[in-house]
Amino acid sequence: MLGVNMTNTANEVECAYCGAVLPDGHTSPCPQCGKKGRKISVSVAEEINVAEKVTWEKRREFYEKHPLAWATVIAITIGAPFLGLFLAGWAGVIAGLALGGIAYWIGPIAVTKVREIERGG
Ligand SMILES: [Zn+2]
Repeated sequence: MLGVNMTNTANEVECAYCGAVLPDGHTSPCPQCGKKGRKISVSVAEEINVAEKVTWEKRREFYEKHPLAWATVIAITIGAPFLGLFLAGWAGVIAGLALGGIAYWIGPIAVTKVREIERGG
């Protein structure tokens, strides 16, 4: 909503020579420069109020852990090097790759970034 809230009309009397602001209705010489000359400027000040609808937004971000998937990822991460220790050679490499693949797929399930946005007004 856009609306003109207030309109101020002010007559500003200034000295024509030095620009000093003089009191309204001032007729005697300027107290600053001693010259007699007035300049009246009418300024119209409009205050525009942008009455925005007050809105609020609440954001909450957290990581949701899925215990079982999370435990599996940890077990694979810790267990994989040991498995490679027991399964020497290509068997260990294949087993390691297989476990890495499993961890890769379970990973996103284990930790999910949850974003909750609430809006109101
Ligand atoms: Zn003056």
